[in-house]
Amino acid sequence: MTLPQAARPRLVDFHCHLDLYPDHVALIRECDRERVATLAVTTTPKAWPRNRDLAQASTHVRVALGLHPQLVAEREAELPLFERYLGEARYIGEVGLDAGPRFYRSFEAQERVFARILAACAEHGDKILTLHSVRAVAKVLGHLDRALPPDRGQVILHWFTGTAAEARRASARGCYFSINSEMLRSPKHRQLVAGLPPDRLLTETDGPFVTAEGLPVRPLAVAQTVAELAKLRGETEEIMGLRIISNLRALLRAAT
Ligand SMILES: [Zn+2]
Repeated sequence: MTLPQAARPRLVDFHCHLDLYPDHVALIRECDRERVATLAVTTTPKAWPRNRDLAQASTHVRVALGLHPQLVAEREAELPLFERYLGEARYIGEVGLDAGPRFYRSFEAQERVFARILAACAEHGDKILTLHSVRAVAKVLGHLDRALPPDRGQVILHWFTGTAAEARRASARGCYFSINSEMLRSPKHRQLVAGLPPDRLLTETDGPFVTAEGLPVRPLAVAQTVAELAKLRGETEEIMGLRIISNLRALLRAAT
């Protein structure tokens, strides 16, 4: 079956907080018009119903159910709400762990919440998770090993800043990596991205947290990231663009 052109994505933004922009609805329309396959992540399960409803008629926007590790200190009590919505969500995020100095105090609670989320996802099966792993890649991978077998859920490590050895470990588990423009500004992370397996690369904005010229980046800005990735890895923009789309297709196939 050939999809009509309007249904075929041109670009991929696999991690964007659409609901944190003042013009959420207009952004969904923009993603559809520009054919940017966008994963709208949420930070609390309370945000799920509104995000779900707004994206219901969208061709290119999908919504993920989240409980952000940086909010776990205040929001752990929303875990039952997360579990209540889990049955209707195919995509999960933003979830994960953050061991940065500002959030380290809640790390134990974060681990408790993350372990429960992974176990619930494994039980349901077929979920696609976008994970936060700031200063906690080894911990995140350990939780995955214990709680989410690769045939029970697909994983994308968003804004990965681990070591090359951790990247190899994640790749061996079947993880994907979604790359944003900010990652490509750091020489250390550029080098890491240059060495990732080509069939595991995706793009993201992580807008509105990532900005360009003082403004939050919008999903369409992933075009620039595709161009930079192409340059970094010595490929044409066209090939890199096709690669990202085909990686997204492979990820979605693997999850069904
Ligand atoms: Zn995010």
